[in-house]
Amino acid sequence: MKFFKSIRTRLTLWYLTVMVILLLMFSSVAYIMLDHNLYQNLDNALRAKSTQLNAPSVIIPQSDEILLSFNYNGTLNQEIGTITVDTSKLSGLVKQALSGQNSYLTTVTTANQGIRLYATSFLNLFNDQTVVVVVGRLTTEITDVLHTFMYIIIFAMIGVIVLAGLGGLFLADRVLRPVERITKTAQKIEGSDLSQRIDVKTDDELGRLAVTLNEMIGRLEESFSRQRQFTADASHELRTPLAIMQAEATLALSKERAPDDYRKALETISQESDHMSSVIGKLLFLARSDAGKEQLNFEDVDLKELIIGLAANIEAFAQDKGIKFTVDTKDDVNVSGDKVKLRQLFTNILENAVRYTPADGKISISLLEKESNAVVSISDTGIGIPPEHLPHIFERFYRVDKARARADGGVGLGLAIAKIIAESHKGKIQVESEVGKGTTFIVSIPVKVLTQQHVGIPAE
Ligand code: ADP
Repeated sequence: MKFFKSIRTRLTLWYLTVMVILLLMFSSVAYIMLDHNLYQNLDNALRAKSTQLNAPSVIIPQSDEILLSFNYNGTLNQEIGTITVDTSKLSGLVKQALSGQNSYLTTVTTANQGIRLYATSFLNLFNDQTVVVVVGRLTTEITDVLHTFMYIIIFAMIGVIVLAGLGGLFLADRVLRPVERITKTAQKIEGSDLSQRIDVKTDDELGRLAVTLNEMIGRLEESFSRQRQFTADASHELRTPLAIMQAEATLALSKERAPDDYRKALETISQESDHMSSVIGKLLFLARSDAGKEQLNFEDVDLKELIIGLAANIEAFAQDKGIKFTVDTKDDVNVSGDKVKLRQLFTNILENAVRYTPADGKISISLLEKESNAVVSISDTGIGIPPEHLPHIFERFYRVDKARARADGGVGLGLAIAKIIAESHKGKIQVESEVGKGTTFIVSIPVKVLTQQHVGIPAE
């Protein structure tokens, strides 16, 4: 039932139930105490009356009273008052009084009215015989008071239930109003527009919930916009070589050309398709890493051997550009890692060093072990990175000088990939740079055994 699914209704019902239980408990206790006190007062009055009978005074019963006296053998001797009681009902009471036990009895008169009786015995000094005196008074007054009390309680309870119900609904409404606002805002939020925020400014649980949800929406917004930017950058990066290839092919085919022109066109197409496939390879790596699906094959890696091998490949490339290349691997350092991925990490940094270092420059690579870490430093005397760009260079598609990087074959993904690889080996990359003087990348990877299975952000 929808009615009971509302927290507002449920809260009110709970509140009412607790209220009714408390009221019932309170009124029952009050009723029992009132009943007890009224009967106690009556009993005291009856007892007092019976002691007056001992005194030599003429007793006149009130209109709601009855006086009976019984002989020592239990037979009725005298009955004073307008009320009549079936005396056979009193034999037990009289017997108890004769045995010396003063007793009370609640019964009904012949007119079916409630009556309270008190029996006591005393010695008649004139004939030296035990006499039982029974004093009785109608309980109508008491039952009237009790009935009135009950009516008051019932009416008060109905009033309280109605008022408490309305009050409960009002309070629940007030308390839950922020929830309504949270729901409305959440309904307005769509995948394409995450700029909405929940406007709950209280400092209570709901306020904190709103703040948490707002923070979550903020994170989602940031990640969506990064995703959008990434897709836009990736499309752009792929569209440019494609456009070049298309233009080159169209131009070549537009008329009959010399074989050399065809060769040149095909060379351009081949270069651009190489570039495209390298971009696609990098994008695939990032996508698989993000999904935690890039498998790492951990083995014992001799970093010294790996770096010397890499250096040999890069050296020829650097020398072609007129750059001096030095390798300094003092320590034998072994790490547990994925050889292919580690080679990729250092290649990305070394390729950048060659790319951004002019002729006559110098690149040096060193390996040493420091505080249980393998530390690889790659320094160049290249163009350097302006300080305002330094915090961003590990972001995807980030390039300091877009035109220059593209002309040099840079896509802006090399350092992002290097960072992911370092982190999935529980390592890190730091960078120091000075414009016009050069740049140093320092990669540190723990030498201890790793258990990481996939490329991606390492679990804490
Ligand atoms: P790219 O493929 O463009 O080189 P990276 O992610 O490898 O992309 O590098 C990001 C940017 O950082 C580069 O575009 C370049 O501006 C800057 N950069 C990286 N390494 C160096 C370096 N050794 N010297 C100067 N700038 C560098």
